[in-house]
Amino acid sequence: MNIHVGLEFLITGQDGERRADAWQMRSEFFDLRPEDGDALREFLDKWGHWYEPGEKPSQQWHKEKSGGRSPWSGLEEHRTGTLGFIRALAGDPPPPDPPESEIWKEQDRLKRALLDPVEEWLTGSRLAFEARPEYPHFYIGARSISKALRATVTLDLLARVKHRLCARKDCRKPFKVESKHSRRFCSQYCGHLESVRRGRREKKRAKRRQK
Ligand SMILES: [Zn+2]
Repeated sequence: MNIHVGLEFLITGQDGERRADAWQMRSEFFDLRPEDGDALREFLDKWGHWYEPGEKPSQQWHKEKSGGRSPWSGLEEHRTGTLGFIRALAGDPPPPDPPESEIWKEQDRLKRALLDPVEEWLTGSRLAFEARPEYPHFYIGARSISKALRATVTLDLLARVKHRLCARKDCRKPFKVESKHSRRFCSQYCGHLESVRRGRREKKRAKRRQK
């Protein structure tokens, strides 16, 4: 049985909304190094808001920032299982992006989710689909980076897409396993870099032996 559901990731820019590739975005997100704040800010500029419009982050940092009182506290609160967010009125502006440290934690969680046993992620997930006349008729609509990221992980796990961690120690990016032939690196770049490094190590060893 093959069921097709879509993921529609929309970014709001100055000239309205445009569709974007959430998997491309995730790939660029996984490329970010946790100490590189500049690269993270560039990433956020390119891909939009971290949170959905009208969503309230449940994290502690957000409560502290707003003095313990949530600006949404007067509204009826709906918990959504997938995100742990409390949904406020649709059409509200998105809340400010979280501190960088929270984003790096999420990067780690998402990477692990692709590699851990599926139940770890899926038992805490709930997916809400929207329906439309065009194919694919059921889709997840995301207007934020965090929702789009999480949806790509959930959909990959549901489709049983296997991932492996890049063997380059300073990369460690999860990549899709596409054939039985076991690739060890996420990209040609990493494979090449590792072979250059191996070459250097061998040269060093040979030199030492000559002495
Ligand atoms: Zn790599």
